[in-house]
Amino acid sequence: MSKFIGESELICPECGYKETLTMPLDACLWFHECTGCHILLKPKTGDCCVFCSYGSVSCPPIQLQNKGGVADVCCGKT
Ligand SMILES: [Zn+2]
Repeated sequence: MSKFIGESELICPECGYKETLTMPLDACLWFHECTGCHILLKPKTGDCCVFCSYGSVSCPPIQLQNKGGVADVCCGKT
């Protein structure tokens, strides 16, 4: 019954390059190298992954949390 959005459009803060990436459902993506300018994107302070910081859609654990569920598996924070 949980339905997640599995893809997020990541927008590079440096060059504005957009790319659509498939998000892993059971892990978070901490780092992503921009295809446009090849900088290494990292999550902003307080965000758990690059999708939460730069993506159009938050990562699956955050989506679950926003639906009122418990996100206890997010990003290695135990
Ligand atoms: Zn870039």
